[in-house]
Amino acid sequence: MFETLQAQPADKILELIQMYRSDPREGKIDLGVGVYKDATGLTPVMRAIKDAEHQLWETQDTKVYTGLAGDPAFGDAMIDLVLGDAVPRGSIAAVATPGGTGAVRQAFEMIRMARPEARVFVSNPTWPNHLSILKYLGMEMVPYRYFDEATCGVDFDGLIADLKTAQKGDVVLLHGCCHNPTGANLNAAQWDEVIAVLQQTGATPMIDIAYQGFGEGLVEDAAATRKVVASVPECLVAASCSKNFGIYRERTGLLMAISADQSATALNQGALAYLNRQNFSFPPDHGARLVTMILNDEALRADWQDELEEVRLSMLGLRTQLAAELQRLSGSDRFGFLAQHRGMFSRLGTTPEMVAKLRTEHGVYMVGDSRMNIAGLNAETVPVLAKAIIDCGI
Ligand code: PLP
Repeated sequence: MFETLQAQPADKILELIQMYRSDPREGKIDLGVGVYKDATGLTPVMRAIKDAEHQLWETQDTKVYTGLAGDPAFGDAMIDLVLGDAVPRGSIAAVATPGGTGAVRQAFEMIRMARPEARVFVSNPTWPNHLSILKYLGMEMVPYRYFDEATCGVDFDGLIADLKTAQKGDVVLLHGCCHNPTGANLNAAQWDEVIAVLQQTGATPMIDIAYQGFGEGLVEDAAATRKVVASVPECLVAASCSKNFGIYRERTGLLMAISADQSATALNQGALAYLNRQNFSFPPDHGARLVTMILNDEALRADWQDELEEVRLSMLGLRTQLAAELQRLSGSDRFGFLAQHRGMFSRLGTTPEMVAKLRTEHGVYMVGDSRMNIAGLNAETVPVLAKAIIDCGI
């Protein structure tokens, strides 16, 4: 029977990793894969995670199943981290999921279950998994303008014009902070306008927040999400712990469904638990437990926040250094956007041909749409990249 299967398109980032590995040149630079790397190129286990794992090893006396929603303490701790006290706890249904991707997938499934004909508005561009999961689920997508190729910032007028065409029963997918793949983000006043459009149209927002703490800070990065959930009758929020806790392979995420009408919470909770049951039954617990321990222990939490802040500031430092070096070499401010972007990624805003040229002539590897992982740089490679960009005539 399997002979009827069709070959699936190759994953572009995995292909890029393969090309990078087989490139014999010394001094090659990998800006492709989306994980944080320190100055030595390592993706370290965070100190608080190690400490929590140590404690867990000593104290955990069972690995029996959790509930279908995962450990409620994880839900409570993450709700507090992401939403703070933006809405009453009684208005939030939540389930643990395998990573942020699991939360995104379950969110789409919940939308489809509630309203199969719902259209999902997605930023152009967005994280490719959004598109491929929606396609796989057979859901209708509507791209909205987001990235302005000329300024490498947000095409805000285009975004607002497109979001105004959404209707009640549609869903608008927004990145809570640190937009992937562009690095270009809305400011507070722009978020207010987006909220006003959501209120006018009645469309339901869904927020994907995968980089809380990587942009302006833990609380600052959650501010837009908190404002949106407090301003609309219904909202979905998919949160990932992969990046800000550095636990990529533990598959730790949370999906929240918020209804201002608290009588809907039990129904939402039941739907989320049902979807977990159908897809994988009980969610993974190891990463979720570590996150819960860290968030609920003063010393572990302080240490985690310190290390997360080091990570954030190191990426910010690299951005500033790269923008300054490019200004020096080009004698212009046209790369200033790199210092304005936030999060792990920036879209350089160049053609696939130039991306290929950077790779073949200079050993610089980035995704074809010119997305660069800023954390793939260090103080020594920033000038090398800047020179390669100018040498290519970008
Ligand atoms: N959402 C966005 C926008 C992302 O960039 C990512 C990771 O790259 C995720 C969600 C989910 O990540 P994970 O499933 O590893 O938690």
